[in-house]
Parts: sequence; C-alpha cells; structure tokens
Amino acid sequence: MEIMWDTELYCLVGDPINFSLSPIIHNYIFKILNRNSVYLAFNIEEKKLKKTINTFKSLNVKGFNVTIPHKKKIIKYLDEISPEAEKIGAVNTVKNQNGKFIGYNTDGHGFIKTFKDNNIALQGKNILLIGAGGAANSIASSLLMEDVKKLYISNRSKKNANSLKERISPLNIETEIEIVNIKYLDKNSIDIIINSTPIGMYPMENKTPLDITGFTKNTIVYDIIYKPKNTQLLKDAKTNGLTTFNGKSMLLNQAILSQNIWFNTEKKINFKNFKEIEGVLAAYVE
Ligand code: NAP
Repeated sequence: MEIMWDTELYCLVGDPINFSLSPIIHNYIFKILNRNSVYLAFNIEEKKLKKTINTFKSLNVKGFNVTIPHKKKIIKYLDEISPEAEKIGAVNTVKNQNGKFIGYNTDGHGFIKTFKDNNIALQGKNILLIGAGGAANSIASSLLMEDVKKLYISNRSKKNANSLKERISPLNIETEIEIVNIKYLDKNSIDIIINSTPIGMYPMENKTPLDITGFTKNTIVYDIIYKPKNTQLLKDAKTNGLTTFNGKSMLLNQAILSQNIWFNTEKKINFKNFKEIEGVLAAYVE
C-alpha cells in the first residue's frame, strides 16, 4: 500500500504504548482488506488527552483504539458511547461517524470469543477471576452478560476487588459474586480459571498466581498474558492435563472486532486470515 493524500488514519492512544502489537495487527488487517489506511501508535499523557482527541477530530482521524491508562478517562471527550461500553465503564475503540466520535468496548467480547470459537459454554459456569484491574473489569462484565453462575474474584488489594464487585453486580443480579482468598477456595467447584494479573510476564516470568494442583481435570485455564505464550501458570496447567488458552486470541479478537466496528459493512476477517495474523505475531510473542 502506498501512502497517498487520501490515506485514512487510524491510531492508538495510551501511556506507555511501547511494544504494543496493535500497529502490527491493524496494519496487517488493512493489507488483507486492501484498505488505503494506516495505523499509528501515540504515547499520550493524561494531561494531553483532551487536546489529542480534538486534534484527531480536526485531522479527520477515522478511528482509534484506547489503551491503559485512558480507557475510562476518554469517555468524557467522546460524543457518544455504546450501551455496552457504558455498562463496562470503559472504551477501547472509537469510530468517527460523520465527524462524531463514538466509543465502544471490544475487550470483553474479544475474551469471550475464544470460548465461542471453541464451543465452550460459559452459561452456568463457576469462574475464578484472578485480578481486578482494567482487563478484569471488561472480562467480568462480559462474563456476567453471558450468565455465568458464580464469579469468584481473587485480588491482591481487597479494596479493588470490592469496587469491581460493586460496579459489575447490577449487570446480572442472578450471578453470585464472591471475593475469595485462593488459599481457602474449594478448588473442586471451579470450571474456569482466568489470570488477569501480570504475574507470569516480564519480570515475573517464573511466578504463578496460583497453585494449580487440586483443581479437577475438566478445569479450563485462561491466562490473558500473551508474552510469553506459555506462562508458568499454563505450563503447570498443561502438566496437570488441563485445557489452556493464552492471551493471543483475546488480543487478536479485540483488534478484529474494532475493525468490524470501523468497517461494519465491508469484507470481514475469516478464520484463514486469523491464522495468518497469528503467524505474523509469532515473531513478536514466541
Ligand atoms: P491493571 O489494570 O494494572 O491491573 C492489574 C491487576 O493485577 C490488578 O488487579 C493488580 O492488583 C494485579 N497485580 C499487579 N501486579 C501484581 C502482583 N505483583 N501480585 C499480585 N497481583 C498483582 O492491568 P490490566 O490492564 O488489567 O492488565 C493485566 C494483564 O493483562 C497484563 O499482563 C496485560 O498484559 C494483560 N492484558 C492482556 C490483554 C489481551 O488482549 N490478551 C488485554 C489487556 C491486558 P491490585 O488491584 O492489588 O493492584
């Protein structure tokens, strides 16, 4: 693709954005879709966020992604947000619709899609979610919207676990939510374990957020870390014969879902394309 006068600009805003894989993923998708578009990442401090969004409007930026720490703060600078982003309380995708900036959230869906693509039902399941940060927030909201039976939240700071519980509880009053200390958890009752902490990635590669022994063989372990692709938690789970997923599919799915929002009537990314992008990413996340 040649950059021309009419090349459309898509962006990422975050702080820090160093080592983000989003430019690689999105520019590769543009190539597949044969779009005259380019995706660039910008490191934007919070105090410059408002000015950046106004500049994006003046430049007619067609869409952008938002990453830590701006997913909540961005909302006040947008013209509208989708009902789902409103429920989650965070935006990671913005579309320029006839000059208006509309916010969406694809993080939770990107996570849930891994289960859908693998025909694993979430409804009625007991889930252990480790962590209560930004990613946990989107994941927990989406799990409640999928009618899980019970959500156990384990987090280093009890205060953050409590505020997550308080925020998501109204999304589905049928789902029971309990804040737990993993030490005292009845491991037999857990169907799915999700790690949404950075324990397992640099500089904590040799650490695991929990001892995997004692869980049943049917337990599924999903570590949303994608680098390294085999965290200590996933290595232990595999050794114990459990089914595992790493964060690569979530990362790719949320990017593809962002593109579907930007170009909703156009050619979609298929399974073959998905595998192709996964291959490209392998050089960066092995
Ligand atoms: P975040 O908002 O900073 O939240 C981090 C969470 O991990 C908090 O609950 C924090 O607990 C906990 N935590 C951090 N360090 C810890 C430690 N040393 N021991 C115990 N708990 C610790 O970060 P985030 O945006 O949610 O991201 C979390 C992880 O998910 C990162 O590894 C990120 O790379 C990954 N991620 C992956 C994807 C994907 O697409 N696959 C998307 C987003 C994020 P406190 O509440 O006590 O601080």
